[in-house]
Amino acid sequence: RIVLGIESSCDETGAGLVRDGRLLGHAVASSMDEHARFGGVVPEIAARAHVHALTPVVRRALDTAGLRLRDIGAVAVTTGPGLSGALQVGLAGAKSLAYALDVPLYGVHHLAGHVAADTLEHGPLPDPCVVLIVSGGHTSLLLVRDLARDPITHLGDTLDDAAGECFDKVARVFGLPYPGGPAVDRAARTGAPDAVALPRPLTGPGDDPYAFSFSGLKTAAARWAEGHADGGLPVADGAAALQEAIADVLTRKAVAACAAHGVDTLVVVGGVAANSRVRALAEERCRAAGITLRVPPLGLCTDNGAMIAAVGDLLVRAGAEPAPLDVSIDPSAPLEYATLHPAASTA
Ligand code: ATP
Ligand code: MG
Ligand code: FE
Repeated sequence: RIVLGIESSCDETGAGLVRDGRLLGHAVASSMDEHARFGGVVPEIAARAHVHALTPVVRRALDTAGLRLRDIGAVAVTTGPGLSGALQVGLAGAKSLAYALDVPLYGVHHLAGHVAADTLEHGPLPDPCVVLIVSGGHTSLLLVRDLARDPITHLGDTLDDAAGECFDKVARVFGLPYPGGPAVDRAARTGAPDAVALPRPLTGPGDDPYAFSFSGLKTAAARWAEGHADGGLPVADGAAALQEAIADVLTRKAVAACAAHGVDTLVVVGGVAANSRVRALAEERCRAAGITLRVPPLGLCTDNGAMIAAVGDLLVRAGAEPAPLDVSIDPSAPLEYATLHPAASTA
C-alpha cells in the first residue's frame, strides 16, 4: 500500500507518500513568515494557513511522486500533540480523503513521526535504540523498540523548556530574526564558544542523568545579553556559546543513556537535530564511544508529512487496527505509542 501522511500540528503543512519504508515524494508549506512579526506561532493564523495550504500541498506531494489520488492505499495524519485548530484542519482533510478513497485512516503521534523520519533515509530502526527527540516543544530521551507495536520508554524529559524553545527565546533577546534556532546556528559560525561562560544544567553528580532543564540556561544567556545593553553585543559569541552549551548537554546525556542501557545506536531527531553543532558533537562523541549515530537529513528534521507517512506505513505493515472515522485530536497527547489509539498497537 502507498500511505499518504498529513502533518499540520504547528506552522508547517506537510504531505508525504511512503511505500514499504521508501519515500516516494513529499511537500511542505510553512506559515512561518506570517508569524515572524509576532515573534512566535499565532494559533489562529496557523490554522487558517493550513486550510489554504492543505490541498495544494497534497497535490504537490503527489506530483513529486508521480502519483494520483487513487494510488493512495491508506491515510495517516497527526492527531496530536500540537495546536488544536491546526490539528483539526489536517484531521478533517485526512478523514475526507480516507472516506472518499475508501481507505483506512491512522492517527499518528507527531513525535513518533519525528522518530520515524530517520527510517526514510537509513532504513528500519534497530531494536532497541536510544532516541533523543529535540524539537520546538519537546526534549526527551527515549528507549524505542518496535515503533509500530511496542510502548515507548521515557528515560528522561525536560523539566521546563524544550531545547528548541531555548534557542528561539534566546535568539529573540539577542535580536536575531525569527525563527531563532537556524539564526543562532548561522550567527554562531563566526563566534567563539568559550567567550561566554554558560551553565550546563543538570550535569552535576547528584542530578538525574537523563533529565534536561533549559530555563536556567536561557536566563543566564539573557542576563549576559543585558550586560551589553549599551550596544555592541557580541552576538556571534553569545550564539556560539549557547549552541555549545545546548549541544554539550544533549549529546553528553544521550551517549550516557546508550552506555547505561547497553544500546549501540543513537538516533537524534526533531528540529534541533538540524543544528550543525548538535550534529557534529553527537558524531564526535558517538564515534569515541563506539555508538552508531543516525540523524535524518536536514529537510526531514523539522515538521513534514513524510515522517507521518513513515509511521503510517509501519502501522500498515504491522497490521495495526485503523482509526475510526470519528477519531479526535489530542492536543497534549503523551508519547506512549506511535499511534494515538493504543488498541491499534496491540493488534
Ligand atoms: P514539536 O515537534 O515539539 O511539537 P515543533 O514541531 O514546533 O515542536 P520542530 O518543527 O520539530 O518543532 O522543530 C522546530 C524547532 O527546531 C524550533 O525551535 C527551531 O528553532 C529549531 N531549529 C530548527 N533548525 C535549527 C537549527 N539549525 N539549530 C537550532 N535549532 C533549530
Ligand atoms: Mg515549525
Ligand atoms: Fe515537530
